Amino acid sequence: MKLLIGTRNDGKAREIRDIFAALPFQLVFPADQFLERLPEEQDLERGSSFSENAVAKARYFAARSHLPTLGEDSGLEVDALDGAPGVFSARWALMHGREVTGQGEGALDAQNNALLLERLALVPDEQRTARFRCVVAYVETATAKPELVEATCEGSILAAPRGGGGFGYDPLFLSTDLGISFAEAGLAAKQRVSHRGRAIRALIEVLVRRSK
Ligand code: IMP
Repeated sequence: MKLLIGTRNDGKAREIRDIFAALPFQLVFPADQFLERLPEEQDLERGSSFSENAVAKARYFAARSHLPTLGEDSGLEVDALDGAPGVFSARWALMHGREVTGQGEGALDAQNNALLLERLALVPDEQRTARFRCVVAYVETATAKPELVEATCEGSILAAPRGGGGFGYDPLFLSTDLGISFAEAGLAAKQRVSHRGRAIRALIEVLVRRSK
């Protein structure tokens, strides 16, 4: 089955490709389908919930590709910040007027992480609890009813970055399941416990059940 993954985030794409690796799906991404990035794509993340954004992404890329499509929206919820950055995780630093110098997602990730450390500077260890949340939405066509799956993983925010792997907030996220940061964990360990790993495996089960 050919399945379009409606993301342009390299970190997410790497993880999603890995989860599907041994399964009978032919994964394709927007760039493979010659779908150039359009300014309107910014609006796909303007909803007030992860579910709304995941469905918007799935429908949008299904409309452009005419393929069954998976949309994914995820983010970090920090309890001491009343759930922020939440749905604003990707561009949090930009929303707070931070300058992002340098190219690509790495530069933005660095600013997001710096802002997170600043906001939590006075928060003691036991109050630095957080979780990643991921919603994946699958649509067969742009107008079909979506299948939605949601998953979380618990952790806490470190006082300084640890590890060189992963992407986004991974260096600051101490996973409760693993006892190390997501940037210290290898891909396989992160996938086992992560919000994205759990959500996508659950969605695959739904798709397999539907196909029977
Ligand atoms: P969006 O779903 O495209 O809005 O982006 C989600 C943002 O949340 C990413 O850009 C990261 O900053 C953050 N995020 C989501 N999942 C992860 C993860 O697995 N590790 C680290 N950061 C993540």
